[in-house]
Amino acid sequence: MVTTDKRKKAPRRGARGTAKAAPRTGAKAAAPAPSPAAETEHLNLAQAEAAASAADGGGFVELGLSDVVMHAIKDAGYALPTPIQRQAIPLALNGRDLMGLAQTGTGKTAGFSIPIIERLLDGPHRTRALILTPTRELCQQVEEAFRKYGKYAGLTVVSVYGGVGYDIQVNALRDGVDVVVATPGRLIDHLEKQNVSFDDLEVLVLDEADRMLDMGFAPQIQRIVATIPPYRQTLLFSATMPPEVEALARKYLRKPVVVQVGRRSSAATTVQHYVYPVPKQRKAELLAELLKQKEMDSVLVFTRTKQGADRVVRHLESVGIEADALHADKSQSQRESALLRFKEGKTRVLVATDIAQRGLDISGISHVINYDVPQQAEDYVHRIGRTGRAAQTGDAYTFMCADEIAMVKTIERTINQEIPRRSVVGYDFGT
Ligand code: AMP
Repeated sequence: MVTTDKRKKAPRRGARGTAKAAPRTGAKAAAPAPSPAAETEHLNLAQAEAAASAADGGGFVELGLSDVVMHAIKDAGYALPTPIQRQAIPLALNGRDLMGLAQTGTGKTAGFSIPIIERLLDGPHRTRALILTPTRELCQQVEEAFRKYGKYAGLTVVSVYGGVGYDIQVNALRDGVDVVVATPGRLIDHLEKQNVSFDDLEVLVLDEADRMLDMGFAPQIQRIVATIPPYRQTLLFSATMPPEVEALARKYLRKPVVVQVGRRSSAATTVQHYVYPVPKQRKAELLAELLKQKEMDSVLVFTRTKQGADRVVRHLESVGIEADALHADKSQSQRESALLRFKEGKTRVLVATDIAQRGLDISGISHVINYDVPQQAEDYVHRIGRTGRAAQTGDAYTFMCADEIAMVKTIERTINQEIPRRSVVGYDFGT
């Protein structure tokens, strides 16, 4: 266990109002000896599960959260912490830096927002936590999570992303908001205009770090981190851990504990996958055919291109199936309303390009369809992470034309499992 960490630890304070923070328990049991080579510690799921059952039930109560947060968790209807929460929350509460290897759908957002809310209870009304995310959609979801779990904590949170006006963001930032959730590009604009200062920042979260690097945000992250005090807590979450992310962690984290849910690159276990072999020109008809099944009541379809997404929507509408497209050519308000209609169950089918691939918290998706096979094997894992979220089951179908056979094989090698083939008579290669 690393006890030499000199970092400033947030004082543990009572909750705002009358609620008192409960004593922290359970964290010590979860932190094994450090690995000298990487200066990291590895916790595996089995260890954490064992620690949790030894702690008699391992519910949220064992995590030692304050009443205000427990109340909000109860309102959210969560019976038990997810494995990543069980591991990450006590460590983060103890002020440790963390590398969370978890994709969306594992409950990772609560895994970092709950300990941050605990830390910010009481104390000065200054910007003390910053969460960097790759996309505006993810920003909004993280902001929502802070509102959900912090609803009795009296904290202020703002999300800051491009594609919308500055005024609301400027006013909120200048008022001295507690938590800022931001995409790197827009945040740099605000830093340059001195709308926000991170002089008092205590916690930095790099969420979906692999995605931020994929999107070329490394220089922006570097510029932002340069404005943050070095004595801070840094939490990094990533669905995958390529060398670039490990390098990022080495640069910005101090003696991080690695918490990992499931195998690297493993696909969500609650998801049933199938590959549908289908000639390219018949994909739209196959989709319409599959959508005849009633149980496909909330379907997220991924296409490779924006034009492809629009074409699929047009085809579905031509056969009487309501669908919306979500891609970068749509305005922010169009994207938000498409997402809202889908979340509310008003549209059954949402056809999206990569921007929607990660971070979307759309509970209750019944099916994900890869209309085009993803170009990167890891994208497959992220995409199907949209379904089977937080232990619900979901189906993931991949349409594979002749050109895409090799890519499916690569995906199968990456996830280390064969995806069963399903043929629909009249639509497969033989017809
Ligand atoms: P995330 O991985 O953070 O995107 O969360 C995935 C989904 O799981 C969200 O819809 C959360 O509301 C939900 N969730 C988070 N924690 C729990 C929990 N402990 N029990 C049940 N659902 C949860």
